[in-house]
Amino acid sequence: MSQSPRSSLDAFWMPFSANRQFKSKPRMMVSAKGMYYQSDDGRQILDGTAGLWCSNAGHGRSEISAAVSRQIDQLDFAPTFQMGHPLAFELANRLVDMSPPGLDHVFFTNSGSEAVDTALKIALAYHKAKGDSGRTRLIGREKGYHGTGFGGISVGGLVNNRRSFGPLLAGVDHLKHAWTAGSEFTQGLPLHGADLADELEGMIALHGGETIAAVIVEPIVGSGGVWMPPVGYLERLRAITQQHGIVLIFDEVITGYGRIGDAFAATRFGVTPDIITSAKGLTNGAIPMGAVFVADFMHQAFMQGPEQIIELFHGYTYSGHPVAAAAGLATLDIYAAEGLFNKAYELGDYFQAQLHSLAEFDVLKDIRNFGLVGALEFKPGAQFGARGYQVFEHCFWQGNALVRCTGDTIAVSPPLILSKEHIDELIGALRAAVKTLY
Ligand code: PLP
Repeated sequence: MSQSPRSSLDAFWMPFSANRQFKSKPRMMVSAKGMYYQSDDGRQILDGTAGLWCSNAGHGRSEISAAVSRQIDQLDFAPTFQMGHPLAFELANRLVDMSPPGLDHVFFTNSGSEAVDTALKIALAYHKAKGDSGRTRLIGREKGYHGTGFGGISVGGLVNNRRSFGPLLAGVDHLKHAWTAGSEFTQGLPLHGADLADELEGMIALHGGETIAAVIVEPIVGSGGVWMPPVGYLERLRAITQQHGIVLIFDEVITGYGRIGDAFAATRFGVTPDIITSAKGLTNGAIPMGAVFVADFMHQAFMQGPEQIIELFHGYTYSGHPVAAAAGLATLDIYAAEGLFNKAYELGDYFQAQLHSLAEFDVLKDIRNFGLVGALEFKPGAQFGARGYQVFEHCFWQGNALVRCTGDTIAVSPPLILSKEHIDELIGALRAAVKTLY
């Protein structure tokens, strides 16, 4: 495959990729099982990123493929607009059983981006349904990644994802990045910075709380570089939003389904928002699907008018797709049978100790971790992002390990089926890369 003529790689415009760089030296995966990918040159590559934060139960799960192929045979597609099929209801019930109390309703999407845009639209429509239509302002946060829909990039806080796409949604503000200098190399949650949530009070004073529809944050910032919430920060956001009738949305597309222990970060942190967005781990990445959890009191606001009227003019052809629902149910079965939502509790300390053992290298600016997600941030080299990419490439070609780079940060988020030996192998690949390169 690496010998392919360049033209054969041209047609696929790859997402979030340096296309020309990739195509000059492709990194191709051809199969996967358990904790490992196999590359087209026959190497076993340790999956240090659960694919793209999604294959939490590891790869090649026959329970999922069997459920998917059974479902395609039995019912390949059925609409969910004014029609139904049992699996979508069954999956929604299963999900509600594991969501924080009060988040009793599920709206299905096909991706995290759609989940985010759905959540923002539900928040806006909820206020309107209550007759509170002055609430139209949305608040995101610097460094936030909420997918690539226009809603998601508007509330998102990553400049490269925003700068080329015009004026975006009007009436959006951003909270400051929730991190304070001096928190470098903290193990787990930073102790300082909860007061950064108070900036929301300032926005309320500036705009009037009655104009603000929703605040959206990732409990742990993922794609923006893996940043943990300071102790008490999410609690503070919850208290302020509650006091002012503002919908709080946790974007759990990465933290959902066991990444930090428990099904959701909301549970692990003991802070219940009004909406949770999820995707990725919902189906172990095997079939695209997202799920938005909505508080019962919000849902009720929609269920007041004449019964023959559609309550929310929103949805996707594939919302609750039967094959995706089958994959979701099989995935949840695996998570339960193998206790995978406990893995971050069981292995979190070991993962933390191993990751922080890399602090010996002077080239590192910071190490961050919580549960089974971690990050190494490198001091900038000659060019921003160069070190991150070098380490990523070294891990892939020499270390036989897949890690993820964003700028000069390397993120790791291995499948939850891992053992201590896999952690050693992953950290070993990173250590070798840093030792060799710097
Ligand atoms: N929200 C968060 C927090 C994410 O990390 C992602 C993807 O990484 C998304 C939304 C978008 O998900 P998708 O790529 O499935 O559209």
